[in-house]
Formats: sequence, structure tokens, C-alpha cells
Amino acid sequence: MPPRPRPAVGANLQTSVERHLREITETAAPPFGEEARATLVAELWRAAGLQVTRDTVGNVVAPVGGGRGPRVLVAAHLDTVFGEGTDVSVRRHGERLCAPGIGDNSASLAVLTAFAERLAGGGAAVRPRLTLAATVGEEGVGDLRGARQLVADHHEGADAFVALDGHLGTVVAQAVGSRRLVARFQGPGGHSWGDYPAASAVHAAGEAIHALTRLAVPGEPRTSLNVGQVWGGTSVNAIAQQAGFNLDLRSLDGDVLEDLERRARHAIQAAARRSGCQVALEQVGDRPAAFADNHTLVACALRALDAVGEKGSVVASSTDANAAMASGLPAIAFGVYRGGDAHRTSEWIEPASLLRGYRAFERLLVCLADARL
Ligand SMILES: [Zn+2]
Repeated sequence: MPPRPRPAVGANLQTSVERHLREITETAAPPFGEEARATLVAELWRAAGLQVTRDTVGNVVAPVGGGRGPRVLVAAHLDTVFGEGTDVSVRRHGERLCAPGIGDNSASLAVLTAFAERLAGGGAAVRPRLTLAATVGEEGVGDLRGARQLVADHHEGADAFVALDGHLGTVVAQAVGSRRLVARFQGPGGHSWGDYPAASAVHAAGEAIHALTRLAVPGEPRTSLNVGQVWGGTSVNAIAQQAGFNLDLRSLDGDVLEDLERRARHAIQAAARRSGCQVALEQVGDRPAAFADNHTLVACALRALDAVGEKGSVVASSTDANAAMASGLPAIAFGVYRGGDAHRTSEWIEPASLLRGYRAFERLLVCLADARL
């Protein structure tokens, strides 16, 4: 029998990235429930020949032998925003693959896993000295706990941090800081007619929200304020005993964020006092706004994208890279797939973009091997 023609390297790579993508996506990783996916990724990396350890918070960590030049941490987050019980099976719609979390961040994990396998096969010869990681707790109230731990454990010996996250072409170079608060109002309540005008927790919350919308929020440095959810009361004819809302504050500047939070707290407390209610404020999120000089990293990222025919755009966002920047480590987030509807159950990716994302990632590493960081 004549030997079968060997498929091109690219075809092999595409097949293996897609296989990992499916497996990783279909292993659910709800917030604070990443263990099954972490175990899977650890097994895949071990099978690829890496020395894999698990740290105290559940991150998967694997130092890679060899390489030259700077020491770079590369991390992709394990968790999704989707709760337990969400159907995470992957479906094909025409050219697209769809599933909750398939892009953010299963696609990045799949690319990183394929990279680990290529290392085992002697590929990716030109690279910096690397440690690969799959982190817990990036999304929502996970509050970057995985990346914080990773950085705490490794920043001494590291020169740079690359988070694989986001869409191909996107380079996150600035860390948007955020503070999240929950305000809970409590009042005496009563009958809407019989006890009127007893203090109402709903009215107090409304007054506080109104006051928040009157706060000066600077446009430069870019800063934002959002009351995302409100709740409270029991009935149309009851004066509410309880009400509350959550608040998301963001800024590119840590001091501005600090000041905005102080003013927001003050506005909420003053509104509660005026309304005759009690208020309790709880901080449920704190992501540092930080900047470490990352211009070499950004330049390498843009060059890598250019080399694969992608137009790069430099943006600000909140990713695992925030944790690195906060400890003074130059960091970026680098996207390796094309897709859409992140954080929605209709999330999709273009599988054909993964190979290009993979190649861009390899180009980034080639550039970093010779970079002075
Ligand atoms: Zn993400």
C-alpha cells in the first residue's frame, strides 16, 4: 500500500486546537467552580510533557524548560461567567462554533495547550523562558484571585506577563481598575396608607441612585459609574423595609478611582440619612488600576499581529494583566481568536481564526525572546 500523504503541519495544528477547544469548552467552569476544567488542562499539559503543579488557589502552573532571554509568565483564565447547569455543549452553525465560554476563554486555553504540545514535538524553538498558567477567578467577583496568586508566587523571577484573553488583534495595554459595591438599605417599613410617611428603603435607594448620577465623573482619565442592578420592597401597598443596588466604578487612574469611590460612598450615606434609613455598604470587587512600562511588550504584540496579517489595536480593559501591572510587572493581554457575544449564551468563534491566533502567539514569543524588557 502506498504511504498516505502526510497532512500539512497547519492542518494538524488546526485539528488539535479544535479538539482541545471542544473538550475544554464542554468541561464547565462556573465562577468558583473551575476544578474540573483545571484538572483537564493539567492532564493535557502533563500529556504534552510539561511538569505541572497546582497552587494554593487552584491555578495550573507549568514551567517550560529551555528558551532564552526574558522570563515571561503566560496565563489564560479557566473560569467563565456562566453558572452551574448552563448547557455548554458545542454546536456548529455554518462557519461558526457556538457555546457559552467557547471564546472567553476556552479558545485561549486551547491555543496554549496546542502550544504545549508543539513544544513537546520540538516546535517553537525560539522563545523566551516561559512559565505557562491556567488561572482561576478572572471573571466578575472572582476578582483576579488566580492571577494575583500567580503573580505573588512568581513576579520575583519574572520580567513580563502575557494574559491570553480577548479577540485576535486586540492588545490590552492599560489596566482598567474597578471597585464594586453593594448598598443595602433598611427602613421601618409599614402600610403604604396607614404608616405613611414612614421611611422607605426603596425611596432611599432611589435618592441615592439619583445622587450618584449627579457625581462628576471625569472623562479624562476615562472613568465610569454604573448602577447595574436594583432590588427591594415586597408589595405595591407596603412601604419597603429593604432595598439595594450594586455599583460598578471604573477608571484608568487609581487615584481618580479612589476619589470617586469616596464620593460615591458619601453620596449614598447622605441619601440614606436624608431618607431616614440605614445603609450598609459592602465592597465586592477591587481590581487595581495600574500601569507598568510595557511598551516593548506592546511593540512585540503589534509586530506579531502584523506578521500574520492582522491589524492590531491597543485598548484598555480589565484582565488578569491588571494583577501583574499592580505588582510592577509589565503586562498585556493578547487575543488569539475571532468571535463574538462573549458573556452571552450565544457566544461564538470562527474556528479558522485559531490557527492565525496561534501563529500570532508564536510570533510574539519569537519577538520576546530577543526583547529587553
Ligand atoms: Zn476573558
